[in-house]
Amino acid sequence: MKRFFIVLLGALLAASLVIGCADFGRGRTGVFTGSAVGHGGTLVVEVEVERGNILRIDVVQHSETPFFYEIPFERVISAAINDGNLNVDNVAGATMTTVAVRAALLQALNAARVNTAAMMQPALAHTPQNIQLSADVVVVGAGGAGLAASVQAAQLGASVIVLEKMSMLGGNTIIIGGIVNVSGTEQQRVRGIADSTDLHFQHTYEGGGRVGNPELIRVLVDNALGMMRWTEELGVVWQDHVDTGLGALWPRSHQTVLPLGTGFLDMFHRFIALPDSGIEVILDTRATDFIVQGGRVTGVRGVNSLGDTITVYAARGVVNAAGGFGANVEMRMRYDELWEGRLTHVVPTTNHPGALGDGIIMAQAIGAGVTGMGYIQLLPIGDPRTGSVSGVAITGVEGYIQVNEQGYRFVNEAAGRDELIHALFQQTNFTNYIIMCSRNHPTGYELSLGAPLNTLVAYGHVHRANTIAELAVMINMSPAVLQATLNQFNEMVDGNAQCPFGRTIFGQRIEVPPFYASRRVPTVHHTMGGIVIDRYARVLDVNGSIIPGFYAAGEVAGGIHGNNRLGGNAITDILVFGRIAGESAATGR
Ligand code: ADP
Repeated sequence: MKRFFIVLLGALLAASLVIGCADFGRGRTGVFTGSAVGHGGTLVVEVEVERGNILRIDVVQHSETPFFYEIPFERVISAAINDGNLNVDNVAGATMTTVAVRAALLQALNAARVNTAAMMQPALAHTPQNIQLSADVVVVGAGGAGLAASVQAAQLGASVIVLEKMSMLGGNTIIIGGIVNVSGTEQQRVRGIADSTDLHFQHTYEGGGRVGNPELIRVLVDNALGMMRWTEELGVVWQDHVDTGLGALWPRSHQTVLPLGTGFLDMFHRFIALPDSGIEVILDTRATDFIVQGGRVTGVRGVNSLGDTITVYAARGVVNAAGGFGANVEMRMRYDELWEGRLTHVVPTTNHPGALGDGIIMAQAIGAGVTGMGYIQLLPIGDPRTGSVSGVAITGVEGYIQVNEQGYRFVNEAAGRDELIHALFQQTNFTNYIIMCSRNHPTGYELSLGAPLNTLVAYGHVHRANTIAELAVMINMSPAVLQATLNQFNEMVDGNAQCPFGRTIFGQRIEVPPFYASRRVPTVHHTMGGIVIDRYARVLDVNGSIIPGFYAAGEVAGGIHGNNRLGGNAITDILVFGRIAGESAATGR
């Protein structure tokens, strides 16, 4: 049987590789470097050669994102050092990093006069095979929902096989802000923040336009604190801090100490790496259809990047956790009911490129019902070039204002994301600037969505100035207008003025220099619609009957968030319902 692999955390985190040796012609002796620009900035590769033989390759400097760079680094370096081959496919989802590490390596090898032309080998011929596997539980998708389901099922004694079409784990969980709504936490208690599951329910239901399924929302909010405890038992460390995430409506947004969603990926990687975890992840393998026998879902068929057909039979259950369709422009345009045909390719997405709705399409093909497909969420903080949420200087809602290109506030920054986007579409060039000060970021080394502010400034993503007037000049605004906007806002913080647009959530005055401004645009973020599930994550068919053996969780499922998901409710959803799906599949509920 063909060997599949999952590269484990320990091996992944080491950017340097085992010393090897290869002979590619006469070359120089010594240590040579090459550099290229990756996703996060400059990346430097160091190569040690002895008369053209490669002794060592290390990435000695880089700012690539954790859980993104490991597989590209490992693949490119091990192909070069072990196989003498530089012709490695780009790692899906980490193309810029793959291209950069290969380019930097090539530069270093050329400097060493290694015969790199001989290292451009054509791909080896492969005869596609039919591979059959089996496990108690089969999971499609290794994003947060699929991994939570896998770990929960494994904890209940099930063997698990996960099919993931990308070359890495994590889906959207590694590229989002990582805020998590939970009520009744110690973090809230210490700060005197009143909250309850009922209030969380109310915000979720009303924030979602009163069209979400109350039963599912109840499950979400009632299990959030237990989910947090579960992650702690699995090693996640949460920050003491709690604030109001963008569109979260209430200060119940928590974050792990590790940035973005990497705290959860770290947890999943460590669990899967346990020798007896019972979880096998098969990467680069796209599920194509669910197998139904006698009305019951009994497995999944897929195809891997070598063209092999893979059939995995599930003794107990199949979990569909293949995510949403934020990156599928055709589906966005077909289903959208909120944004009046605006969601063409011109509007970017925060999502990973694999968010194409496969799981919804495959489930519909076997009769699953769908709900709320017309509800698509955008964020007002997309990078104008990439749509990503990275590259922005931002805090909890308490600490920033949004201004348009003219320097005026135009919305209640603490409103729901639907309201924020409707207001942003009324502004010139659909553009806004997030303005914050240094109160919570005194040194510039602090992280904003995973990146140090100093780095964001150095790479030109973010503007920084010691006065508001200077900042305004940098972003082509009237200094007088921007200063007046901020003065007026600070008056409101002090409670001396009525707040235009009805903002009610405030922190402290925005007044500590230096000041930051980030230019941002609307970007597709979350597809609220999806497969119909019940409280046990069982998939219902178009008539509302349970499809035996079939479970769904995460963004692939619909009905929880109504027509507008609260900021911070996505990770709560994927972990809470991922666990439930894993338990249901493992126990055959
Ligand atoms: P969620 O937040 O619900 O976990 P994500 O989009 O983060 O959703 O994760 C879904 C995962 O499923 C991604 O890693 C994506 O690459 C994977 N995926 C999507 N379609 C398929 C498919 N057809 N086969 C295997 N994996 C898939």
